[in-house]
Amino acid sequence: MRAQVLTAAGRPLVATELPAARPGPQQLLIAVRACAVCRTDLHVVDGELSDPKLPLVPGHEIIGTIVEKGESADRFRVGDRVGVPWLGWTCGVCEYCQSGRKNLCDRARFTGYQIDGGYAELTVADERYCFAIDERYGDVEAAPLMCAGLIGYRTLRMAGDAPLVGIYGFGAAAHIVAQVARYQGRRLFAFTRPGDVAAQDFARSLGAEWTGGSDQPPPEPLDAALIFAPVGALVPAALAATKKGGTVVSGGIHMSDIPSFPYRILWEERVVRSVANLTRCDAEEFLALAPEAGITTETVSYPLARANDALSDLRNGALQGAAVLVT
Ligand SMILES: [Zn+2]
Ligand SMILES: [Zn+2]
Repeated sequence: MRAQVLTAAGRPLVATELPAARPGPQQLLIAVRACAVCRTDLHVVDGELSDPKLPLVPGHEIIGTIVEKGESADRFRVGDRVGVPWLGWTCGVCEYCQSGRKNLCDRARFTGYQIDGGYAELTVADERYCFAIDERYGDVEAAPLMCAGLIGYRTLRMAGDAPLVGIYGFGAAAHIVAQVARYQGRRLFAFTRPGDVAAQDFARSLGAEWTGGSDQPPPEPLDAALIFAPVGALVPAALAATKKGGTVVSGGIHMSDIPSFPYRILWEERVVRSVANLTRCDAEEFLALAPEAGITTETVSYPLARANDALSDLRNGALQGAAVLVT
């Protein structure tokens, strides 16, 4: 099978012909139709996440069709279409797994990081972390739901019932979360890179009633802030824009260092927290809600062979919506 392979951090991916993997007992062999490119892939390729298997096939927003099942796999049938997300395996016995927090499993393994992912014609996934995809979505438009959508949804959930939400960084995750927030009847402000008029127009088209640079104060204080840009300086900026008792949630897996800030912008019961990975429950909830809420995704397709171009366009901020590799 054709695959795009990372051989060492900081190097471009290499087009490689690999032997097709075989599914283990509870695994599925999946013909990849589409795989979205997540900012986490960039962090892996650039070496900011330091623990990938090598060589590695990246990619954890996979949509594909089951071509073969392991002997004890019984959740799906051959021919079914499934989505495969970042969380790829959990141990089931650690204190986190035992308390409904599988996203924090001590021995968790991740797709496109410790498990070969979707930048390939075929991939193998544990059926417990595969999800049915509503038929209303095409392969390409469904792909960004698998991480930008799922992690974005969990990030929004951590904001509680905040009626006015500010989003910092308007990329793939934000463009989905904005639609969920509006569907839930929340008001939305969007903060982009200063001067990024295109991103601000995009945010307004998805229901943001105010947009501005991340260096600007909002016209009224936020009930909660969601940060999707990997920029630590946004944490104090978001705190300063958030009301008493409000929450600032960081949805990313990697961020530059957070600069020190005066305690008074945290005081009055403001909360700063992060979101890590996803649970199966998040995925089931979000993938049911997305078609009901009419969530759409904006995508830019690249053939699999152009994975490096997709990564550099994401790195350079040249994308509106999500890049998707098509096999
Ligand atoms: Zn565990
Ligand atoms: Zn991701």
